Amino acid sequence: MNLVRVSKSCVGSDEITSVATVLNRGFLGMGSEVQAFESELQDYFGSVDYKVVCVNTGTAALQLALQAIGLGPGDEVLVPTLTYVATFQAITATGASPISCDVKEETGLLDPEEITRKMNPRVKAILLVHYASYVENLEWYYDFAKRHQIRVVEDAAHAFGCEYEISGRRKKIGSFGDVLCFSFDGIKNITSGEGGAIVTSDPKILDLIRDLRLLAVEKDSDNRYAGKRSWEFEVHHQGWRYHMSDLMAAIGRCQLKRFEHEFKPKRCAIASHYRQRLGHNPRIQFFRTDLETIVPHIQPIRVPASMRDRLRQHLQENAIETGVHYKPNHLLKRYYQSAAQLPVAERLYSELLTLPLHPNLQTSDIDFVCDRVEEFFSKEVHSR
Ligand SMILES: *Cc1c(COP(=O)(O)O)cnc(C)c1O
Repeated sequence: MNLVRVSKSCVGSDEITSVATVLNRGFLGMGSEVQAFESELQDYFGSVDYKVVCVNTGTAALQLALQAIGLGPGDEVLVPTLTYVATFQAITATGASPISCDVKEETGLLDPEEITRKMNPRVKAILLVHYASYVENLEWYYDFAKRHQIRVVEDAAHAFGCEYEISGRRKKIGSFGDVLCFSFDGIKNITSGEGGAIVTSDPKILDLIRDLRLLAVEKDSDNRYAGKRSWEFEVHHQGWRYHMSDLMAAIGRCQLKRFEHEFKPKRCAIASHYRQRLGHNPRIQFFRTDLETIVPHIQPIRVPASMRDRLRQHLQENAIETGVHYKPNHLLKRYYQSAAQLPVAERLYSELLTLPLHPNLQTSDIDFVCDRVEEFFSKEVHSR
């Protein structure tokens, strides 16, 4: 039996050819390929004001974004607890502290009421997470941030290719907002092997991040794009080795070309097929979403907590891999907050199951998964 994987890197001959071309050039570092990827991403997002800086992971993108908006020890960041630990690690990497917030039951997204409740003078930013690629209430968060003079950083790791309707117009995530971070790790909507990007229209943030990714060596990005090195330079800030390499950018450029006509429709079709097949099952709940505007990165469902692990086991016995997105961060030792009562995220954690979703799956694979899920629930009913 072939294993049905929960997620997978979908790379092929195009990526191999492009990587070979870079290898043959004998320069693997950050150069023209990264510059080209950044400008193609900029064109893709489609706003002249929003520029892209590529880095080596989505986590690095978040860390640099948070550092660049000026976060440090003593500052606090409001963040939903239901996210990958990368989001939290990026906050603490700057010296700032995450304030875990609960999420909405229907979406798994940050609950606006938590923001109002937990706002305090130490809070310098809201870090939104576009969980399962869905985005909601953006106007509300931006309005709140403006009123309190704090920044908004969007963890858009799940939301590459997604759109959002704002003032009656659909806009790409990455073409508006304050500072956005994307991930191009192996299983995201597009990959560059590993990789990430920061997108913003704030010129100060852009210039700073361009330096920070190269050990804060000033103007080193410009030199590298011109095929030069910086020998005489100045450094003012704590920087990091977080730049993207030409090798990675070569993969990313291929993936970006394949995205609109190949990955995007495939991901949407799979998510919609799951809903068609399982949406009527009284034991299964889907999060609210909008497949007209989003490109789903993962397919979480909710099932009764008492059955979740057995369902997971049943699928595993049928060579179907599943996941749990995510263990809430406030339950981790490092981020444990005794005072934190985040009942919705904790309940979701006991009910969540992520079904396979990646562009290499066939309709027959999805039917196979759905058959096994339905078989499990019908056995449950009969064994009662
Ligand atoms: C993948 C992911 C990240 C981190 O991105 P990496 O490229 O893996 O470092 C951050 N936040 C969320 C929600 C993610 O899914």
